[in-house]
Amino acid sequence: MSVPSSPAPCYQPDQTRVKLSNKGSSHVLRRVASVPNTTDYFKSNITSSSYSLLKQKVQVGPSDFQKVRLLGKGDVGKVYLVKHKETEKLYALKVLSKKEMIKRNKIKRAVAEQAILSTANHPFIVPLYHSFQSENHLYFCMEFCVGGEFFRALQNRPGRILKEHEAKFYAAEVVAALEYLHLMGIVFRDLKPENILLHESGHLMLSDFDLSIQSPSASPPTLVRHHSPFSKQPMLDTRSCMNVRTNSFVGTEEYLAPEVIKGSGHSSTVDWWTLGILVYEMICGYTPFKGPTRDDTFEMILSSTVEFPDYTNPYFRATGLSSPCKSFIRKLLCKNESKRLGARAGASEVKSHSFFKSINFALLRNMQPPIIPSKSHPIRAVHFNRLKESVSFDLNHDGLHTPPADDDEDPFLSFHSDDVTSGRADLNK
Ligand code: AMP
Repeated sequence: MSVPSSPAPCYQPDQTRVKLSNKGSSHVLRRVASVPNTTDYFKSNITSSSYSLLKQKVQVGPSDFQKVRLLGKGDVGKVYLVKHKETEKLYALKVLSKKEMIKRNKIKRAVAEQAILSTANHPFIVPLYHSFQSENHLYFCMEFCVGGEFFRALQNRPGRILKEHEAKFYAAEVVAALEYLHLMGIVFRDLKPENILLHESGHLMLSDFDLSIQSPSASPPTLVRHHSPFSKQPMLDTRSCMNVRTNSFVGTEEYLAPEVIKGSGHSSTVDWWTLGILVYEMICGYTPFKGPTRDDTFEMILSSTVEFPDYTNPYFRATGLSSPCKSFIRKLLCKNESKRLGARAGASEVKSHSFFKSINFALLRNMQPPIIPSKSHPIRAVHFNRLKESVSFDLNHDGLHTPPADDDEDPFLSFHSDDVTSGRADLNK
């Protein structure tokens, strides 16, 4: 197995310490993921995953779409709302500049993201319908999530928080998506409200697999015995699917797990840490270890215990946090990754925590989501920022991709031009 062996760019603490506080920080600031050393990633041919959907040779290109507006900007590209000219259906089209990717050594990441999105087929993971390339750009044509970023939806809630039962619903959907990814041998690694989209149904969809890593050989799950003497049912161990451990410094500052900061190597258990931060943020309105500076945040992640807010905040008074909820968060935010909830049997263990007692995971899709985005004006959807586009972009005049005569010289050779609709329901229909 040749999975990541990049040197660990572990965190070097600053000697000067400022008094730590996680209150009063700006909540509207976007958190940007740290960029990893990508050189050795995805060396192996991960597109040959055994989970592939049926794919057809691509039948669409840039000129089949009409640009409607800019939806968002990612680390290396822009996402547009586009209309398919023939069917008038709306899609989200992610456009990555080849020049920019070459300059920033991001080609392997884009190819990896395509491989993951085109093989994933899950209700809580954003569907990729087509991918293609032109002379200057790579394109991902995805389901348009009319509710936009979950991050924006949270910002628009009173007190920027959710009630515990609402947060539990979203947490359950995230667990279902992570379980699926882990079974496919994929570690998501960058869970945060910015990477979760709201589908028009109100259900969540994970997006942005830029930092994800996939084991080249996903093995079938095994069974493990329950710790509890009262439960005889063995649990499915989704951890066993992942033959992957890496020590790259990836993730988003406030969401980084201690083992990532230490550079001591991390595995799928980082996704359970980030779930703990996400649940905390959904209910409390801020992340638990945010300090005034980056170093302080890292220091708190490494050494502070989780504290829950006192109930002087008017938004908390009505609800408070239940003991199962606190226990759930504490167990996910266990600094010792081998003792963390999910470390023993992955998602099955997380799902069996008493916090999820009221959740029937099999019926999640039939539950009524707490936030239903307005469908009437998708183009003016509330959870999108009004973004100004600096560089004009023309879908009609983006020349077709002509590979160089010598294939070895084409850095985008492994970016497949595929239609991935076969075998997957088009949610727009
Ligand atoms: P990304 O490059 O994947 O991080 O996407 C950048 C931004 O574009 C996101 O933060 C969203 O605001 C928006 N976006 C991405 N994908 C979609 C989608 N499928 N539907 C709606 N908006 C999206």
